[in-house]
Amino acid sequence: MKKDLKKCVDFHGHLCGGLLMGYRAAKAAMKNLKSSFAKDEEVVAIVENSSCFVDAVSVLTGCTFGKGNLIFKDYGKMVLFLLSRKDGKGVRVSFKSENNDKAQENFYSLMNKVLHGKANDKEKSLFKKIKKEREKKLLTKKDEDLLNIKRIKMPLPARAKIFKSVKCDKCGESVMETRIRKTKKGDYCLECLEK
Ligand SMILES: [Zn+2]
Ligand SMILES: [Zn+2]
Repeated sequence: MKKDLKKCVDFHGHLCGGLLMGYRAAKAAMKNLKSSFAKDEEVVAIVENSSCFVDAVSVLTGCTFGKGNLIFKDYGKMVLFLLSRKDGKGVRVSFKSENNDKAQENFYSLMNKVLHGKANDKEKSLFKKIKKEREKKLLTKKDEDLLNIKRIKMPLPARAKIFKSVKCDKCGESVMETRIRKTKKGDYCLECLEK
């Protein structure tokens, strides 16, 4: 296993198709932009799913929620945007559709059976076999056969802003000032407001 893939697997906890898709998308995007691991906010990633995919993107690009340079859009798509603050260049990476809906449907129904402990031994070994084949494809296919890579122009998201903390009148804990809500009983954090 390649060193950078090993890093992703170590962080994520296991090897799976989603992780491999994130791995391939991130590598292709970084190659296209000639960018390297972001130590600060010099690169911004926008992901359109919150699955295994994102972990590989974070490990390779250095874009994380913690640094504020990972943006999640809940679109349910295996799509990655990578934007460079240095030169304003950006790239969008998506996956070519498989054109085999039946096989996909079968794989997902098999996977759900296995995950919910409802598969028999034959189904389990079949799932393993297909999973391995899919992973091999994701690892060995050439970028141009697997991915759509498109240079894009879009405005860069604002840099991460750090806000001061204020005290919640109910629980007494510190809250980011933009997350406090005025109520009749005082300034409440969202956690207290929910209660
Ligand atoms: Zn996974
Ligand atoms: Zn509170």
